[in-house]
Amino acid sequence: MCGIVGYIGRKAAVPVLLEGLKRLEYRGYDSSGIAILTSADGELVVRKSPGKIATLEKLIAENQLPESTLGICHTRWATHGAPTSPNAHPHFDCSRKIVVVHNGIIENYESLKKDLEKKGHKFVSETDTEVVAHLVEEFYKGNLLQAVQKAIQKLAGAFALGVVAKDSPGEIVAARVGSPLIVGVGEKENFIASDVPAILDSTRKIIYLNDGEMVRLTKDQVEVFTFKGKKVFPKIHNVTFSIDAVQKQGFPHFMLKEIHEQPHVLEQMCQKRIKNGQVILDGLNLSMTQLKNVKRIFIVACGTAYHAGIVGKYIIEKLVGIAVNVEAASEFRYGSPVIDRKTLIIAISQSGETADTLAAVKEARSKGAKVVAICNVVGSSLTRESDGILY
Ligand code: GLU
Repeated sequence: MCGIVGYIGRKAAVPVLLEGLKRLEYRGYDSSGIAILTSADGELVVRKSPGKIATLEKLIAENQLPESTLGICHTRWATHGAPTSPNAHPHFDCSRKIVVVHNGIIENYESLKKDLEKKGHKFVSETDTEVVAHLVEEFYKGNLLQAVQKAIQKLAGAFALGVVAKDSPGEIVAARVGSPLIVGVGEKENFIASDVPAILDSTRKIIYLNDGEMVRLTKDQVEVFTFKGKKVFPKIHNVTFSIDAVQKQGFPHFMLKEIHEQPHVLEQMCQKRIKNGQVILDGLNLSMTQLKNVKRIFIVACGTAYHAGIVGKYIIEKLVGIAVNVEAASEFRYGSPVIDRKTLIIAISQSGETADTLAAVKEARSKGAKVVAICNVVGSSLTRESDGILY
């Protein structure tokens, strides 16, 4: 799941946007980015980077963004294209006058991209998202709402979109099908976001957009429409719970919420790794010959990750018939495990910084084993120490 935040109003946009983005960190992400429309000369300026929001903040601190009261930002969880800077959102069109952030998957992006390339559009990323920016460019004739509306008719898949155009400087247009998007209604300021906590410091008046609805935000107005252009008069909810309670989405504990999220997370992880009926493990970094050479597998991990490893053992042994040992990393590093070049180590650590797991991996590699990490944090120590990574 990624995060989107958009702001239009009277305050400095950058701190509002970055603070909102941080409130969405719980959703998981691999890169982040921001686009603002400068107050002085109405230019669109983008900063983006793989890794943590802190990295984006550093980038902005080193190269300050001009004053602005309008912007959109994004945390990406890559589905198409590696977590790199060019693939991070926001994405520009050719003229760099339109920027888009997107959560979801545009399933027909390949055919759209081909058509757009034939018309002369130049793509700079590997994402499915970039087609949206170019489509809006194709349809833009001075009315952003209409251009987005026309672009959407061409899209198949799931999306929450936030779009800003240099030539429509007083507005943000957003739309959703299948991916979450809410609108925050403020006093002389308005917001979009993937989830309520992102904007709860500024407003408690929330519109939950339905699938098939789009919105035009100005600083003073929120207008909701269907994709066919029919005006909708949505209910404005007054959210009374604390940020903490909202983040727990009605569950008494984060742990319980995360347990209930497992089917959805699993589905997403599988979805992004199945292409044309084939399982594609992009980050594995092992050739078929290297894989066939594997005679023994160790899963090393600590705590909860260790227990996940035990489930992994049953699955791997059943599917590939290779013996799997699951080892607590703390024991493994002090034992004398029999490891050679035909051994594969699967190291599991959510943070990628678990000291015992890191030590076990170093030890195994020094004996010639290949290491694949299963990890959530891009650029963490474990990912740097491993041959392959599955985020
Ligand atoms: N499919 C888009 C991408 O890979 C958006 C992913 C997301 O929802 O963060 O860039």
